[in-house]
Amino acid sequence: MSVPFLDLKAINLAQAAELEAAFKRVLNSGWYILGSETAAFEASFAEYCNSAHGIGVANGLDAIFLILKGYGIGPGDEVIVPSNTFIATWLAVSHCGAKPVPVEPVEGTYNIDPSKVEAAVTAKTKAIIAVHLYGQPADMGPLKDIAKRRGLKLIEDAAQAHGARYQGGVTGQLGDAAAFSFYPGKNLGALGDGGAVTTSDDALAERIRTYRNYGSKIKYYNDVPGYNSRLDELQAALLAVKLPALDAGNQQRRAVAAYYQQHLAGIDGLILPEIPAWAEPVWHLYVVRHAQRDRLAKKLAEKQIGTIVHYPVPPHLQPAYADLGYKEGDFPIAEVIHREVLSLPVSPTMTLDDAAEVVAGVKAALAEIAG
Ligand SMILES: *Cc1c(COP(=O)(O)O)cnc(C)c1O
Repeated sequence: MSVPFLDLKAINLAQAAELEAAFKRVLNSGWYILGSETAAFEASFAEYCNSAHGIGVANGLDAIFLILKGYGIGPGDEVIVPSNTFIATWLAVSHCGAKPVPVEPVEGTYNIDPSKVEAAVTAKTKAIIAVHLYGQPADMGPLKDIAKRRGLKLIEDAAQAHGARYQGGVTGQLGDAAAFSFYPGKNLGALGDGGAVTTSDDALAERIRTYRNYGSKIKYYNDVPGYNSRLDELQAALLAVKLPALDAGNQQRRAVAAYYQQHLAGIDGLILPEIPAWAEPVWHLYVVRHAQRDRLAKKLAEKQIGTIVHYPVPPHLQPAYADLGYKEGDFPIAEVIHREVLSLPVSPTMTLDDAAEVVAGVKAALAEIAG
């Protein structure tokens, strides 16, 4: 038996008939950009996120970028970001001309450490981006306190955390604004690229709606130099089919993660994710750590068990950020995490038998490494 890392085809085929019907509806509508499908999905996604506004955009990177633009963040400004995240979080800051200022995570949860944030705040700081990495919510309470005290915007990068909860509150409304990605592999995935901003800030929502569509409220009248970043009608229609299945998919991910937490516990050298009492993660990824990560991955591959490293190189050590002048050792927690993390299979189509197969594979692989 083999366990693939993620079977996207199986996930989408589970709703094949409804997706085909949505495609036909859009095909026959003759209207493909910014119409009723996008408006309907935006409304349902905003409701799901308990937010006043949902704004469909082209992808998750643009969602973060447009929030920053909407708040007027630009050259000369600083934005606090996690030292360990997918590089998009940093790129959104760079692309608006501001400087990403990294802060280390809590090792056990992989999420930004609120106790280290205040030391990174300067007179130039305008916002904090909290990433709910791997589907586990960041510790938003203390971040909110800091943001309030220092007059900063608190932005969620919720690209990996659709439906996750912090102290019972759903992501998307835990800060001032939130960015989501609908990249196909995300917990709510389109059949192409897509993204959304959720917020209850009316003025911000209006600015983002304008920015995403050439800076225009009325066609061919341009208020600001905007962008082309729109969720298209087809992806919106497909996402509207998939949104009602999100909670069940997340529930199955939780069942697989709970199985791993129970059956992989107590293995020498294998570090499992920590789940704080206030967190209800949605397990976009189930990430373990091991000092011999690459050997473990290779042995699992030999046993037909798919794994991926999220991520092999932290943003501060990427050639893309050479100009910031960071060197190895500057963010040691992020660096050790990137050296040791390995994502095991977790998805809505996985069964507990699959999970048992993965557990057996991990145990056998680790015995071989130790032997
Ligand atoms: C996927 C992702 C993004 C970017 O989303 P795209 O839709 O690929 O642009 C941003 N942040 C995080 C944490 C992500 O995982």
